[in-house]
Amino acid sequence: MKILVVEDDDLIATGLHLALSRLGHAVDRSSNGMDAQQLLSDQTYHLAILDLGLPGKEGLDVLRDVRKVNSAISVLILSARDDIKSRVKGLDLGADDYLIKPFELDELLARVRVIERRHKTGESAVLELGRLALNLDSVVATWDGQPIELPKSEWTLLRMLAEHPTRVYTRSQIQDVLYGWSEAGESNAVDVHVHHLRKKISPDLIKTVRGIGYRLGDLN
Ligand code: CA
Repeated sequence: MKILVVEDDDLIATGLHLALSRLGHAVDRSSNGMDAQQLLSDQTYHLAILDLGLPGKEGLDVLRDVRKVNSAISVLILSARDDIKSRVKGLDLGADDYLIKPFELDELLARVRVIERRHKTGESAVLELGRLALNLDSVVATWDGQPIELPKSEWTLLRMLAEHPTRVYTRSQIQDVLYGWSEAGESNAVDVHVHHLRKKISPDLIKTVRGIGYRLGDLN
C-alpha cells in the first residue's frame, strides 16, 4: 500500500517508516498538519497513519478536511489522547481505526494488515440505504438510480447521516462537521441544508427529531 505517516515525533515516525517499508509498503512522511493536508490532496494514498497533536494543523482538522473530499483513503489515528471524546470524534469524522500511544508495533502492523485486506478485497464504497445510494469514491448521490447534484456541504451532511442511519445528530454536531469549531456558520445553516436536501431528493429523506436534531429518514 501507499502509506502516509503523519507524526511529529521523529522516533515514532522513523520506526514506523522502517517497519512499514520492510513489509513492502511505499511510505511517505510528514511531521506537520498543513504539509500532510497538502500531500493528501496531491497524492493518492491507501492509508494515512495520523497523529492528532501536530504543528501547523490539528490531526482531527486534517481528518475532517480530508474526509470532505476523499472517502477512499483509510485513516488510522495514532494519539496519546486517550480521552473518549477525541476518540469518538475521530471515529465520527471517519477514521477507520484508533490506536493509543504508547502502542506495540506489532499491534499497529496487525491493524495495518486488516486495512490492507479491506483494500484488496475491494470492499464496495457504495453506501446503499433503500432508494438512496452514496458512492463514496465518486462522491455521487443517487435516488432510485438517478444522480443528484449536491454541493459539498449537503453531500457531507447526507453522508454523515447515512453512515449512522439510526443515530440522531444535534444541530451543533452537524455544524461542527460542516464548519469546524472555529468558524461558526450561520445559525440556521444546518436547517437550510436539510431543507434543500429534502427538496432535491425526498421530503422523507431526513427526519426531524423534535427538540434534538436530525436523523436519516425511512428510505424504502
Ligand atoms: Ca504529536
